[in-house]
Amino acid sequence: MNVVTENFEKEMIAWRHYFHAHPELNFDLDITSAKVAEILKSFGLDVFEGIGKKGIVAALKNGNSNKSIGIRADMDALPVKEESDCEYKSTHEGKMHACGHDGHTAMALGAAKYLSKTKNFNGTVYFIFQPDEEKTQGAQAMIDDGLFEKFSIDEVYAFHNLPGMEVGTFATRSGTITASESLFNINLWGQGGHSALPHMGVDTITVGTQIITSLQSIVSRKLNPAMNGVVSVTKFESDGNENILPGHSIISGDARALSPEANKIIEDSMQNIVEGIANAHDIKFEFTYDTRTNMTINTTEQAAFASKVAEDLVGTKKVDGNCDPKLFSEDFAQMLMVKPGCYILIGNGTEGTHGQSLHSSTYDFNDKLLVIGSSFWTKLVCERLS
Ligand SMILES: [Zn+2]
Ligand SMILES: [Zn+2]
Repeated sequence: MNVVTENFEKEMIAWRHYFHAHPELNFDLDITSAKVAEILKSFGLDVFEGIGKKGIVAALKNGNSNKSIGIRADMDALPVKEESDCEYKSTHEGKMHACGHDGHTAMALGAAKYLSKTKNFNGTVYFIFQPDEEKTQGAQAMIDDGLFEKFSIDEVYAFHNLPGMEVGTFATRSGTITASESLFNINLWGQGGHSALPHMGVDTITVGTQIITSLQSIVSRKLNPAMNGVVSVTKFESDGNENILPGHSIISGDARALSPEANKIIEDSMQNIVEGIANAHDIKFEFTYDTRTNMTINTTEQAAFASKVAEDLVGTKKVDGNCDPKLFSEDFAQMLMVKPGCYILIGNGTEGTHGQSLHSSTYDFNDKLLVIGSSFWTKLVCERLS
């Protein structure tokens, strides 16, 4: 079956460059969302706007089967100042498509166009365009707004480009593929005072540094080495000054885990460390640990199916169906908490702007992926809804 979308490559490039030049953040996707809806309507899809604020669901039905499939693309950009000379450079100061969601959106639109023309499937495909992947609130907002009640979606798929992987190679796995993300915050209250009279105050910096050092023992000494996790303190602030002892300090950071068990161990260990050290020094404390993104957990059947589709498309050598899990996080996790499905990584390339890290001011999505990625979507739909 020929599912290749190359006839639409020029359009996909034009859409991608339009989105790239007009990046928007989080849920503030007026331009992007309106453009996506307009394009989808031009193909004759049933377009439902305002699902999870600026999210869009577009339905394309063919034949008599009740089977259905959801394809998710993310639409939001990042608060990064673009350092590039490309002709489609961001025109929105301080905002940039530095994660390639411009490309993900263009590929889903390309697949929608192809499938609306060929209709070589039997069932319903739902294209899900989500807001706010970067702050990981968009998927849940769409779910809370009835994504899976208003639309009968059997299973969901999403992919993300990845710099450093050869262009057009695919990687996925059964089980956990990306980590949970938890933000922690530790407030310490002691007693401020004179720097030359420390015995009359309670210094929160001395205690804070002990806590920070001890937090680094969690991954090395509390987690089973076969489990994976990361604990990073990213901020330490106090109200002290040159000759003023700090009476208040705040420590905050970010923790990642590849299983709910590892995440619980990290949280409980943190609580113990903060409580123990703070109590030993007469410091009042408040500790919060907010797991705002879950692990992305692929279901076995759907991961195997996605791998097979990729292998048929680009050859077995370019597909790793059992890749290592990644310690970054992905909002699509929320959808996989509700429905079976699979998250897939696609190589963005290793050279130049395509090999730069995601979220870097010099990164760019690789337009060579547009046909490969959208063809993967069309093949997946045609074979799953055959
Ligand atoms: Zn990102
Ligand atoms: Zn991203």
